[in-house]
Amino acid sequence: MNSEYALHPTAPADSSYLPGPVLLIGPPGVGKGTQAKTLMAEFGIPQISTGDLFRGHRRQRTELGLIAEKLMVLGQLVPDNLVNQMVAGRLSGADCGRGYILDGFPRTLAQAAWLDEHLAEANSCPVVAISLTADRDDLLKRITGRRICPQGHIYNVYTEPPRVEGVCDVDGCPLELRRDDTEEIFESRMKVFEAETAPVISHYHTQGRFAEVNGLHRVDTVTRDIRAQLERLRTEPSMAACAAQRA
Ligand code: AMP
Repeated sequence: MNSEYALHPTAPADSSYLPGPVLLIGPPGVGKGTQAKTLMAEFGIPQISTGDLFRGHRRQRTELGLIAEKLMVLGQLVPDNLVNQMVAGRLSGADCGRGYILDGFPRTLAQAAWLDEHLAEANSCPVVAISLTADRDDLLKRITGRRICPQGHIYNVYTEPPRVEGVCDVDGCPLELRRDDTEEIFESRMKVFEAETAPVISHYHTQGRFAEVNGLHRVDTVTRDIRAQLERLRTEPSMAACAAQRA
């Protein structure tokens, strides 16, 4: 499993080490969720995955879950105001006080503008964005090979298979194929990514609190590269100043 991989040997496993909330951004299937879970375990801070929050709403048959369900099966985005409202509620949780990892949010420029403003109003450091990259064919293979357990552990039948086929190594739950992990929905999600989320990557790139990491390497290599980038970013003057203000 991803959490068993060796971590960077020099950095302290403490959220105050991080130069602000960490945003993992990239195309569907690039490994944002897997990496977010590793960082979450290491720093003891929550992963905020809007996809997981919507799947939770869908399971509980809430009004938001019913709206999201229709869009998710088409690979379309849930409207910004609904997503932002859900995220605002989640960020107000006591467990977010020491930092958090954003996975799958913001995904549009309007969401990014909302988040930037929300953090500024809360006197919080702005996000540090790590863009995970991969090419289309590899992403498709990752998506169609992905299996998840209801507790959130992630496998891939090609690259990270469970010890027993179809069963989670950690809790023994039966593994499932996400309903939107089909080739057809992948194509639609890629179109949405290129039109809506690629500009968000440019937005954070321009702000400078940004790094790119190749998401196609082994899971532990990607984790190591993310750590190295966070270490580089935290020493940059603007980030060090923000972290010092918070301390
Ligand atoms: P994910 O698990 O991140 O791939 O998200 C699964 C689906 O949830 C997406 O295809 C969207 O339908 C919806 N979703 C997740 N995050 C967002 C977001 N930030 N904005 C709009 N829709 C989202």
